[in-house]
Amino acid sequence: MEDAYGRTIDYLRISITDRCNLRCKYCMPKGACLVSRREILTLEEIQAATIAASSLGIRHIKVTGGEPLVRSGCCELIRRLKSIPGIEKVTLTTNGILLNRYLEALDQAGIDGINISLDTLEPERYREITGRDGLKEVLSGMEKAILLGIPVKVNAVSIDWEGKGEDWMALARLAERYPVDVRFIEMMPIGYGRDFKPFDHRELFEGLREAYPGLEADERVHGPGPAVYYRIPGFKGSIGLISAMHGKFCGSCNRVRLTSQGYLKTCLCYEDGADLRKVLREGQEEFSDKCQEGEHWKWKYRDCPDDAGLQRRLRETIVQAVKKKPAMHCFEQPDKITESRFMAAIGG
Ligand code: SAM
Ligand code: SF4
Repeated sequence: MEDAYGRTIDYLRISITDRCNLRCKYCMPKGACLVSRREILTLEEIQAATIAASSLGIRHIKVTGGEPLVRSGCCELIRRLKSIPGIEKVTLTTNGILLNRYLEALDQAGIDGINISLDTLEPERYREITGRDGLKEVLSGMEKAILLGIPVKVNAVSIDWEGKGEDWMALARLAERYPVDVRFIEMMPIGYGRDFKPFDHRELFEGLREAYPGLEADERVHGPGPAVYYRIPGFKGSIGLISAMHGKFCGSCNRVRLTSQGYLKTCLCYEDGADLRKVLREGQEEFSDKCQEGEHWKWKYRDCPDDAGLQRRLRETIVQAVKKKPAMHCFEQPDKITESRFMAAIGG
């Protein structure tokens, strides 16, 4: 699928829940408002939207959240998404707290890769950012995933605080010890991220180059994302920089996002897009209010996910939205940002 600027859109990030077992300061701090569960897409609705997206050229799905592993049925959803014709890769972004519990099921579902979000290796600081302990679980989940042979990336939002240099070096050294790519992500002014000062990655890069003079550009393709990668002699993994603020990469943007409430977002910065939930629920019977297990809804769904009429309506809506995908974000002009959702609903 091409947008109006000739960019090929083949990557869809799906937030499958806005719930989370952490309270990261910049994403979903304590007291953040959650939507009612009936507003969140059911697994069948996500499946239906993905079938339509894949028929339009989406090849890579990222399952995200909120914390995707707190939603019951997450592994089953991944298995279903993997079986959709045209879908080549389904990967997961997680905070890693529940990885140990679900790794085998994820592996059996055919997961193609796991991104673990981890901003520090200091237990105190971890608690300060996320609101709870959990660093040990995250690291043991990461080790287990590596042992299972699942490709792992570690994603750290670079926060401007005292001692950040040592923190970053410790995170970077994960790529020395383990075959993982460690990527640093510039904080974006979305949701609660607006309260943080964006941090320029050039300082981080200079610190890395000073510590590792042998650092060199790594041109290999590491995935569908915008990270710029570097190799350090002796390291098993690479270091990636995702510099949305100080290194705009909109010209090669290949993605759209489906929020937990079923809104197809065409750019992180703006509210514009299309309400796929409206299309999915048009003419549907009212949802049952009974929550069976966790977030698993019992509901009546007259169309099956691949119903021809539903699929046609979804395709038309997606194509129209993608045609209007903005040329670029406007993070550097905060008054022009129209997105008001918080990151957990969008999925990062
Ligand atoms: N709970 C999962 C996790 O933490 O990986 C998935 C959802 S989380 C919203 C996805 C990613 O978005 C995480 O790596 C998180 O650090 C990142 N994120 C959240 N708010 C952000 C912001 N304002 N700027 C940049 N990245 C952000
Ligand atoms: Fe939860 Fe991920 Fe947001 Fe942290 S970044 S609060 S783990 S959704």
